[in-house]
Amino acid sequence: LPVVVGVVALRRDPQLHTIGFMLDNSARKELEQRKDDFISMASHELRNPLTALKLQTALLHRQLDKHGTLDQVPALSSMQTQINKITRLVEDLLDVSKIQAGRLEYRQESVDLDALLREIVDTMQQTNPSHTILVHGTAEVSLLGDRDRLGQVFTNLLSNAIKYAPSAEAVEMELSASKDAVVVQVQDHGLGIPRELHDKIFDRFYRVTDPKQKAIPGLGMGLYIVAEIVRHHGGTLMVESEVGKGSTFQVTLPKKRDG
Ligand code: ADP
Repeated sequence: LPVVVGVVALRRDPQLHTIGFMLDNSARKELEQRKDDFISMASHELRNPLTALKLQTALLHRQLDKHGTLDQVPALSSMQTQINKITRLVEDLLDVSKIQAGRLEYRQESVDLDALLREIVDTMQQTNPSHTILVHGTAEVSLLGDRDRLGQVFTNLLSNAIKYAPSAEAVEMELSASKDAVVVQVQDHGLGIPRELHDKIFDRFYRVTDPKQKAIPGLGMGLYIVAEIVRHHGGTLMVESEVGKGSTFQVTLPKKRDG
């Protein structure tokens, strides 16, 4: 606080304007840093009780399966679904703070992309029976990278495609491979994104402010994390989208080199 007061005083003297600006900037940086630290601490603090809740509800589920009444099991299942939702949000928050601090860790392993995508599409299809997910083509390649993190990329893109499109419209995934790279496109026929916002949607915590988009829950972390993971794997991420027509997100990843 004393720094900020100092800035106000200095700013009245034009000759000291540069110093004032520097202090102003450093005060802002400090505030930013404090905000980042808070997000990191809050997500750590939230993770522990959530882990405990997850374990306890799993135990309870086992007991109810044997001795519970019919209406207790679905009630507990819906509690578990909510716990999983909060856990995912907290994990995204943790990832965002790790990216900010340059501390997101990656494994280096051989990844069978086709198998990974099949697994993700199966899970997404089971948890979102209202939408049809169509997969075209194959990407019979091994990549070198982090299987879970790459999984996060495609889970996020598919879940956005489902979230921002009406259920009557299919979500389509198109796979293709060239000599050096594999290309995965995730296409929806939903709300679309105004052209002037195509760069912004990859920013941390950015959400499109259109009322239709705002009505759909989210915190603007998914694409920021996706972009970071793709960048780490030496790939590129592009978007093509038109309001009212839909969006296509394209991920290109380099193939594993022999030797
Ligand atoms: P979230 O969906 O949690 O808000 P994201 O970082 O995944 O955060 O996306 C940022 C914003 O980009 C979203 O708030 C939404 O406005 C827009 N967006 C992302 N994917 C799509 C999509 N497939 N169709 C329309 N809008 C999208």
